[in-house]
Amino acid sequence: MSEINSSSKKPTTKVVKLAGVKGMNDLLPQDAYRWEFLERTVLGLAKAYGYQNIRTPIVEHTEVFQRGIGEVTDIVEKEMYSFEDRLNGEQLTLRPEGTAAVVRAVVEQNLLYEGPKRLFYIGPMFRHERPQRGRYRQFHQFGIEALGFAGPDVDAEIILMCARLWDDLGLQGLRLELNSLGNEQERKAHRTALVEYFVSHQALLDEDSQRRLHTNPLRILDTKNPTMQDLVIAAPKLIDYLGKESLDHFETVQYLLKANNLPFKINPRLVRGLDYYNLTVFEWVTDQLGAQGTVAGGGRYDPLIERMGGKPTPACGWAMGIERVIELMKEQGLGGDAPALCDIYIAHAGGQTLEPSFVFAEQLRSAGVDVLLHASPDGQSSSFKSQMKKADASGALYAVIIGEDEFAQQQAQIKDLRGTGLQTAVAFDAVFDHVIDRLVSSSD
Ligand code: ATP
Ligand code: MG
Repeated sequence: MSEINSSSKKPTTKVVKLAGVKGMNDLLPQDAYRWEFLERTVLGLAKAYGYQNIRTPIVEHTEVFQRGIGEVTDIVEKEMYSFEDRLNGEQLTLRPEGTAAVVRAVVEQNLLYEGPKRLFYIGPMFRHERPQRGRYRQFHQFGIEALGFAGPDVDAEIILMCARLWDDLGLQGLRLELNSLGNEQERKAHRTALVEYFVSHQALLDEDSQRRLHTNPLRILDTKNPTMQDLVIAAPKLIDYLGKESLDHFETVQYLLKANNLPFKINPRLVRGLDYYNLTVFEWVTDQLGAQGTVAGGGRYDPLIERMGGKPTPACGWAMGIERVIELMKEQGLGGDAPALCDIYIAHAGGQTLEPSFVFAEQLRSAGVDVLLHASPDGQSSSFKSQMKKADASGALYAVIIGEDEFAQQQAQIKDLRGTGLQTAVAFDAVFDHVIDRLVSSSD
């Protein structure tokens, strides 16, 4: 058998592309500006109400969420990304929500020692759900927590904060739904009635609800199953079991919302997906996002801090789904157009023209001007035709052009890219002032 010359006929192995994880999205540059707008807006909102930033790790001990969210909840039963640390056997979980982690940190760091705290967080959360519009496996939340306040005034404050956020973003058509879950004894009395009611209609319960009937019947009211809606609507209402203290708390919240002209609807079936709520609960909903219409939700969770090992401390908060808000902003044409990449694009011939190009770029940036300095893909100089195409696409107002001829005369051409398209030759030592003057007059 003759030898095959392997070097001349080397088979080309095709390297396959890698895929991202299902339900976990890349945020691409062409969409990022809307996120940045939202992020700036929520940072401004937090500041307007005196809320401080807290950043907890993405990964926590699984127990943080088991205790903090409750065992019999969708999240803990089936949505958590939990795993064992291979090196030390610890049970860990990617955070599915922010509150339990914030409370863990606050208790661990003794943060409430100085008194109540108003905090906010922003970042990714992870839940193993069926991906669909508005429902992802990695999604993002902005959330706030008011820790150490018992009164209904703070419930009203955090709800008004949401309303202001919709206003700041220009969003329309978000409705506020409100309910009160009372205290533990009141929920117990209601629970007895609820179990009785569901037992007498057991044939109509789906599998999840059958299972929850004796572990967490309140959660059945939270079902999304359309065939159970009639059953759930006619179920005993928790609000009919509230005592004076709970009712007073609830009424003051309502009074303060009315005093601030904020409309709301009381929804007796609103129980929220997490286990730790008491008294006020609320959600902001829209009809514009299909099935995933809840944009933000929250309420009071007075029992949680003690449950997480802290001193008994009242608290309330909410979380907003950033993807859903972004989607709604798109629906309503908000968030503006993609901004220009820069104010000034500098085109050059490489070689000796690089030095003045860098000098102008850095000088202008120091003065607060956004500058894109052309760089060629192959490290050689690019044709001016292709550079001017890039300059146009960048959204820059002006191009500063330094070719070999310009360099020889120690000049640059300043080209108006948006208005007249005219070019003006300017001596190197006047380029900076000239560009600044032009930008100032074009912003008038
Ligand atoms: P849903 O009833 O839609 O499952 P939830 O009650 O589980 O929501 P919360 O835990 O209260 O949601 O989270 C607050 C907000 O976070 C929701 O109102 C929603 O806007 C957003 N959110 C929750 N889960 C997801 C997800 N899987 N993908 C995108 N956003 C989500
Ligand atoms: Mg959910």
